Amino acid sequence: SIMPALLSGIANGARRGILFKNGAHLERMGRVRAIAFDKTGTLTTGRIEVVSMRAVEPSTQLLLQVAAALESLSEHPIGEAIVQAVRQQNLSWTEAVNGQAKTGQGITGEIDRKTAVVGKAAFVQSQAKSPPPTLVQHSQQWEAEGNTVVWVAYGGEVLGIIAVADTVRPTAARAIAQLKRLGVEQIVMLTGDNARTAQSIAQQTGVDQFHAELLPEDKVDVIRRLQKQYQTVAMVGDGINDAPALAQASVGIAMGTAGSDAALETADVVLMADRLEHLEHAIRLGRRAQSVVK
Ligand code: ADP
Ligand code: MG
Repeated sequence: SIMPALLSGIANGARRGILFKNGAHLERMGRVRAIAFDKTGTLTTGRIEVVSMRAVEPSTQLLLQVAAALESLSEHPIGEAIVQAVRQQNLSWTEAVNGQAKTGQGITGEIDRKTAVVGKAAFVQSQAKSPPPTLVQHSQQWEAEGNTVVWVAYGGEVLGIIAVADTVRPTAARAIAQLKRLGVEQIVMLTGDNARTAQSIAQQTGVDQFHAELLPEDKVDVIRRLQKQYQTVAMVGDGINDAPALAQASVGIAMGTAGSDAALETADVVLMADRLEHLEHAIRLGRRAQSVVK
Protein backbone atom coordinates (compact mmCIF):
# COMPACT_ATOMS: atom_id res chain seq x y z
CA SER A 1 0.00 0.00 0.00
CA ILE A 2 1.16 3.53 -0.72
CA MET A 3 2.74 5.48 2.15
CA PRO A 4 0.68 8.45 3.40
CA ALA A 5 3.60 10.86 2.78
CA LEU A 6 3.74 9.86 -0.87
CA LEU A 7 -0.02 10.06 -1.22
CA SER A 8 -0.13 13.58 0.18
CA GLY A 9 2.73 14.62 -2.13
CA ILE A 10 0.89 13.21 -5.15
CA ALA A 11 -2.32 15.00 -4.12
CA ASN A 12 -0.45 18.27 -3.59
CA GLY A 13 1.10 17.99 -7.06
CA ALA A 14 -2.24 17.13 -8.67
CA ARG A 15 -3.81 20.30 -7.28
CA ARG A 16 -1.29 22.34 -9.30
CA GLY A 17 -1.49 20.18 -12.38
CA ILE A 18 1.65 18.10 -11.74
CA LEU A 19 0.59 14.50 -12.30
CA PHE A 20 2.81 11.80 -10.75
CA LYS A 21 1.82 8.40 -12.11
CA ASN A 22 2.97 6.74 -8.85
CA GLY A 23 4.76 7.26 -5.55
CA ALA A 24 8.12 5.89 -6.72
CA HIS A 25 8.29 8.66 -9.34
CA LEU A 26 7.59 11.30 -6.70
CA GLU A 27 10.41 9.96 -4.51
CA ARG A 28 12.84 9.73 -7.43
CA MET A 29 12.00 13.31 -8.40
CA GLY A 30 13.42 14.37 -5.04
CA ARG A 31 16.77 12.81 -5.97
CA VAL A 32 17.17 14.36 -9.42
CA ARG A 33 20.71 15.75 -9.97
CA ALA A 34 20.53 16.46 -13.72
CA ILE A 35 17.67 17.42 -16.04
CA ALA A 36 17.63 17.12 -19.83
CA PHE A 37 15.17 19.19 -21.85
CA ASP A 38 14.04 18.70 -25.43
CA LYS A 39 14.19 22.00 -27.35
CA THR A 40 11.25 22.25 -29.75
CA GLY A 41 7.90 22.25 -27.95
CA THR A 42 9.50 22.01 -24.50
CA LEU A 43 11.92 24.95 -24.01
CA THR A 44 10.16 26.66 -26.94
CA THR A 45 6.41 26.94 -27.53
CA GLY A 46 6.59 24.78 -30.68
CA ARG A 47 4.36 27.25 -32.53
CA ILE A 48 6.52 27.59 -35.61
CA GLU A 49 6.29 30.47 -38.11
CA VAL A 50 8.00 31.33 -41.37
CA VAL A 51 10.19 34.40 -40.81
CA SER A 52 12.29 34.85 -43.99
CA MET A 53 12.95 33.25 -47.35
CA ARG A 54 15.47 33.61 -50.15
CA ALA A 55 15.27 32.09 -53.62
CA VAL A 56 18.10 31.53 -56.08
CA GLU A 57 15.89 32.98 -58.84
CA PRO A 58 14.44 36.51 -58.61
CA SER A 59 10.99 35.08 -57.82
CA THR A 60 10.22 33.01 -54.70
CA GLN A 61 7.18 31.41 -56.36
CA LEU A 62 8.62 28.02 -57.38
CA LEU A 63 10.54 27.75 -54.09
CA LEU A 64 7.30 28.15 -52.13
CA GLN A 65 5.26 25.87 -54.39
CA VAL A 66 7.74 22.99 -54.16
CA ALA A 67 8.11 23.44 -50.40
CA ALA A 68 4.33 23.48 -49.88
CA ALA A 69 3.75 20.47 -52.13
CA LEU A 70 6.16 18.30 -50.11
CA GLU A 71 5.37 19.70 -46.68
CA SER A 72 1.64 19.10 -47.16
CA LEU A 73 2.58 15.38 -47.06
CA SER A 74 4.49 15.86 -43.79
CA GLU A 75 3.13 15.95 -40.23
CA HIS A 76 6.12 17.84 -38.88
CA PRO A 77 5.27 21.23 -37.26
CA ILE A 78 7.79 22.87 -39.63
CA GLY A 79 5.78 21.47 -42.55
CA GLU A 80 2.50 22.81 -41.20
CA ALA A 81 4.01 26.28 -40.78
CA ILE A 82 5.33 26.35 -44.35
CA VAL A 83 2.05 25.14 -45.91
CA GLN A 84 0.12 27.78 -43.97
CA ALA A 85 2.49 30.57 -45.04
CA VAL A 86 2.26 29.59 -48.72
CA ARG A 87 -1.55 29.39 -48.53
CA GLN A 88 -1.60 32.92 -47.14
CA GLN A 89 0.20 34.09 -50.30
CA ASN A 90 -2.68 32.63 -52.33
CA LEU A 91 -0.33 30.36 -54.25
CA SER A 92 -1.57 27.03 -55.55
CA TRP A 93 0.73 24.11 -56.33
CA THR A 94 0.87 20.78 -58.14
CA GLU A 95 0.61 17.93 -55.66
CA ALA A 96 3.65 15.81 -54.91
CA VAL A 97 3.56 12.00 -55.06
CA ASN A 98 5.68 9.25 -53.46
CA GLY A 99 6.37 11.40 -50.41
CA GLN A 100 8.87 9.90 -47.98
CA ALA A 101 9.61 11.54 -44.64
CA LYS A 102 13.07 10.92 -43.19
CA THR A 103 13.15 11.33 -39.39
CA GLY A 104 15.15 14.35 -38.30
CA GLN A 105 16.15 15.19 -41.91
CA GLY A 106 13.20 16.24 -44.05
CA ILE A 107 11.06 14.83 -46.84
CA THR A 108 11.44 13.77 -50.49
CA GLY A 109 8.86 13.25 -53.24
CA GLU A 110 8.10 13.76 -56.93
CA ILE A 111 6.39 16.69 -58.62
CA ASP A 112 5.76 16.41 -62.39
CA ARG A 113 8.13 13.42 -62.44
CA LYS A 114 11.05 15.39 -61.02
CA THR A 115 12.53 14.74 -57.58
CA ALA A 116 11.87 17.34 -54.88
CA VAL A 117 13.70 17.48 -51.52
CA VAL A 118 12.94 19.67 -48.50
CA GLY A 119 14.75 19.72 -45.16
CA LYS A 120 18.16 20.07 -43.53
CA ALA A 121 21.10 21.53 -45.50
CA ALA A 122 23.13 18.30 -45.66
CA PHE A 123 20.11 16.17 -46.57
CA VAL A 124 19.02 18.47 -49.42
CA GLN A 125 22.50 19.30 -50.69
CA SER A 126 23.40 15.61 -50.94
CA GLN A 127 20.68 15.36 -53.62
CA ALA A 128 21.40 18.57 -55.57
CA LYS A 129 24.17 20.59 -57.25
CA SER A 130 26.19 22.93 -54.98
CA PRO A 131 24.20 26.00 -53.91
CA PRO A 132 25.48 29.56 -54.47
CA PRO A 133 27.88 30.57 -51.63
CA THR A 134 25.75 33.63 -50.75
CA LEU A 135 22.83 31.31 -49.97
CA VAL A 136 25.03 29.30 -47.59
CA GLN A 137 26.12 32.54 -45.87
CA HIS A 138 22.50 33.66 -45.45
CA SER A 139 21.55 30.29 -44.04
CA GLN A 140 24.34 30.35 -41.45
CA GLN A 141 23.45 33.89 -40.42
CA TRP A 142 19.79 32.97 -39.90
CA GLU A 143 20.74 29.90 -37.86
CA ALA A 144 23.05 31.93 -35.62
CA GLU A 145 20.01 34.12 -34.88
CA GLY A 146 18.13 31.05 -33.60
CA ASN A 147 16.08 30.24 -36.73
CA THR A 148 15.86 26.81 -38.35
CA VAL A 149 16.65 26.92 -42.07
CA VAL A 150 14.76 24.65 -44.47
CA TRP A 151 16.47 23.96 -47.82
CA VAL A 152 14.47 23.22 -50.97
CA ALA A 153 15.72 21.47 -54.15
CA TYR A 154 13.88 20.42 -57.29
CA GLY A 155 15.17 18.42 -60.26
CA GLY A 156 18.68 18.42 -58.74
CA GLU A 157 18.88 22.23 -58.35
CA VAL A 158 18.68 24.14 -55.07
CA LEU A 159 15.73 26.57 -55.31
CA GLY A 160 16.35 28.43 -52.06
CA ILE A 161 15.91 28.51 -48.30
CA ILE A 162 13.07 29.25 -45.88
CA ALA A 163 13.79 30.33 -42.30
CA VAL A 164 11.33 29.21 -39.64
CA ALA A 165 11.40 30.02 -35.94
CA ASP A 166 9.51 29.39 -32.79
CA THR A 167 9.53 31.30 -29.55
CA VAL A 168 11.44 30.43 -26.40
CA ARG A 169 8.88 29.98 -23.61
CA PRO A 170 8.90 33.25 -21.66
CA THR A 171 9.30 31.29 -18.38
CA ALA A 172 12.10 28.97 -19.54
CA ALA A 173 15.12 30.98 -18.35
CA ARG A 174 13.57 31.69 -14.96
CA ALA A 175 12.54 28.05 -14.45
CA ILE A 176 16.08 26.88 -15.26
CA ALA A 177 17.65 29.44 -12.92
CA GLN A 178 15.33 28.23 -10.13
CA LEU A 179 16.31 24.60 -10.70
CA LYS A 180 19.99 25.51 -10.43
CA ARG A 181 19.32 27.42 -7.20
CA LEU A 182 17.59 24.32 -5.88
CA GLY A 183 20.86 22.43 -6.43
CA VAL A 184 20.26 20.60 -9.72
CA GLU A 185 23.86 20.15 -10.90
CA GLN A 186 23.47 19.95 -14.66
CA ILE A 187 20.81 21.27 -17.06
CA VAL A 188 21.09 19.90 -20.60
CA MET A 189 19.27 20.66 -23.87
CA LEU A 190 18.75 17.92 -26.49
CA THR A 191 17.59 18.59 -30.06
CA GLY A 192 17.41 17.19 -33.55
CA ASP A 193 17.97 20.71 -34.83
CA ASN A 194 21.37 22.03 -36.01
CA ALA A 195 24.13 23.23 -33.65
CA ARG A 196 24.00 26.95 -34.55
CA THR A 197 20.25 27.21 -33.83
CA ALA A 198 20.66 25.07 -30.71
CA GLN A 199 23.45 27.31 -29.39
CA SER A 200 21.27 30.39 -29.74
CA ILE A 201 18.39 28.79 -27.80
CA ALA A 202 20.85 27.40 -25.22
CA GLN A 203 22.16 30.91 -24.56
CA GLN A 204 18.66 32.38 -24.28
CA THR A 205 17.61 29.78 -21.69
CA GLY A 206 20.84 29.38 -19.66
CA VAL A 207 21.28 25.59 -19.93
CA ASP A 208 24.73 24.27 -18.93
CA GLN A 209 25.26 22.16 -22.08
CA PHE A 210 23.47 21.24 -25.29
CA HIS A 211 23.59 18.42 -27.85
CA ALA A 212 22.34 19.03 -31.42
CA GLU A 213 21.60 16.93 -34.56
CA LEU A 214 20.29 14.08 -32.38
CA LEU A 215 18.10 11.22 -33.57
CA PRO A 216 15.69 9.70 -31.01
CA GLU A 217 18.21 6.94 -30.12
CA ASP A 218 20.99 9.54 -29.70
CA LYS A 219 18.85 11.27 -27.05
CA VAL A 220 18.73 7.92 -25.20
CA ASP A 221 22.54 7.67 -25.32
CA VAL A 222 22.96 11.15 -23.81
CA ILE A 223 20.55 10.24 -20.97
CA ARG A 224 22.55 7.04 -20.28
CA ARG A 225 25.82 9.00 -20.12
CA LEU A 226 24.26 11.53 -17.74
CA GLN A 227 23.01 8.68 -15.54
CA LYS A 228 26.59 7.35 -15.20
CA GLN A 229 27.67 10.74 -13.88
CA TYR A 230 24.61 11.96 -11.97
CA GLN A 231 22.65 8.72 -11.21
CA THR A 232 19.16 10.25 -11.10
CA VAL A 233 18.37 12.08 -14.33
CA ALA A 234 15.04 13.57 -15.43
CA MET A 235 14.09 14.14 -19.07
CA VAL A 236 11.43 16.66 -20.10
CA GLY A 237 9.94 16.31 -23.60
CA ASP A 238 6.88 16.56 -25.79
CA GLY A 239 7.49 14.71 -29.05
CA ILE A 240 7.22 11.18 -30.42
CA ASN A 241 10.98 11.49 -30.94
CA ASP A 242 11.43 12.07 -27.17
CA ALA A 243 9.57 8.91 -26.06
CA PRO A 244 12.64 6.60 -26.00
CA ALA A 245 14.62 9.15 -23.92
CA LEU A 246 11.65 9.64 -21.56
CA ALA A 247 11.58 5.87 -21.05
CA GLN A 248 15.34 5.71 -20.37
CA ALA A 249 15.35 8.63 -17.89
CA SER A 250 15.06 7.97 -14.14
CA VAL A 251 12.02 10.26 -14.30
CA GLY A 252 10.37 10.96 -17.69
CA ILE A 253 8.34 14.17 -17.72
CA ALA A 254 5.91 15.13 -20.51
CA MET A 255 4.32 18.44 -21.39
CA GLY A 256 0.55 17.95 -20.92
CA THR A 257 -0.87 20.18 -23.65
CA ALA A 258 1.96 20.24 -26.17
CA GLY A 259 2.78 16.56 -25.58
CA SER A 260 2.22 13.87 -28.20
CA ASP A 261 0.36 10.70 -27.16
CA ALA A 262 3.64 8.75 -27.19
CA ALA A 263 5.28 11.20 -24.78
CA LEU A 264 2.25 11.27 -22.44
CA GLU A 265 2.04 7.46 -22.33
CA THR A 266 5.76 6.96 -21.71
CA ALA A 267 6.22 9.68 -19.10
CA ASP A 268 6.21 9.12 -15.32
CA VAL A 269 5.12 12.69 -14.60
CA VAL A 270 2.94 15.04 -16.66
CA LEU A 271 3.01 18.85 -16.41
CA MET A 272 -0.66 19.40 -17.26
CA ALA A 273 -0.34 23.14 -17.98
CA ASP A 274 3.04 22.89 -19.80
CA ARG A 275 4.53 25.09 -17.07
CA LEU A 276 8.28 24.60 -16.70
CA GLU A 277 8.24 26.44 -13.36
CA HIS A 278 6.27 23.45 -11.96
CA LEU A 279 9.47 21.38 -12.12
CA GLU A 280 10.87 23.19 -9.09
CA HIS A 281 7.72 22.42 -7.13
CA ALA A 282 7.82 18.77 -8.25
CA ILE A 283 11.38 18.41 -6.88
CA ARG A 284 10.42 20.08 -3.59
CA LEU A 285 7.46 17.69 -3.21
CA GLY A 286 9.76 14.74 -3.92
CA ARG A 287 12.30 15.86 -1.33
CA ARG A 288 9.62 16.42 1.27
CA ALA A 289 8.11 12.96 0.68
CA GLN A 290 11.56 11.38 1.02
CA SER A 291 12.38 13.06 4.31
CA VAL A 292 9.08 11.85 5.78
CA VAL A 293 9.42 8.30 4.44
CA LYS A 294 12.98 7.86 5.80
P1 ADP B 1 13.50 18.30 -32.46
O1 ADP B 1 14.36 17.26 -31.79
O2 ADP B 1 14.07 19.67 -32.24
O3 ADP B 1 12.05 18.24 -31.96
P2 ADP B 1 13.19 16.88 -35.13
O4 ADP B 1 14.00 15.66 -34.80
O5 ADP B 1 11.73 16.68 -35.30
O6 ADP B 1 13.52 18.09 -34.08
O7 ADP B 1 13.76 17.50 -36.50
C1 ADP B 1 15.11 17.85 -36.59
C2 ADP B 1 15.36 18.72 -37.80
O8 ADP B 1 15.10 17.98 -39.01
C3 ADP B 1 14.51 19.95 -37.89
O9 ADP B 1 15.03 21.00 -37.11
C4 ADP B 1 14.57 20.24 -39.39
O10 ADP B 1 15.78 20.91 -39.69
C5 ADP B 1 14.63 18.87 -40.02
N1 ADP B 1 13.30 18.41 -40.48
C6 ADP B 1 12.64 17.32 -40.05
N2 ADP B 1 11.46 17.16 -40.70
C7 ADP B 1 11.34 18.22 -41.55
C8 ADP B 1 10.34 18.66 -42.49
N3 ADP B 1 9.20 18.00 -42.69
N4 ADP B 1 10.59 19.79 -43.18
C9 ADP B 1 11.73 20.48 -42.99
N5 ADP B 1 12.70 20.14 -42.13
C10 ADP B 1 12.53 19.01 -41.42
MG1 MG C 1 10.02 18.50 -29.30
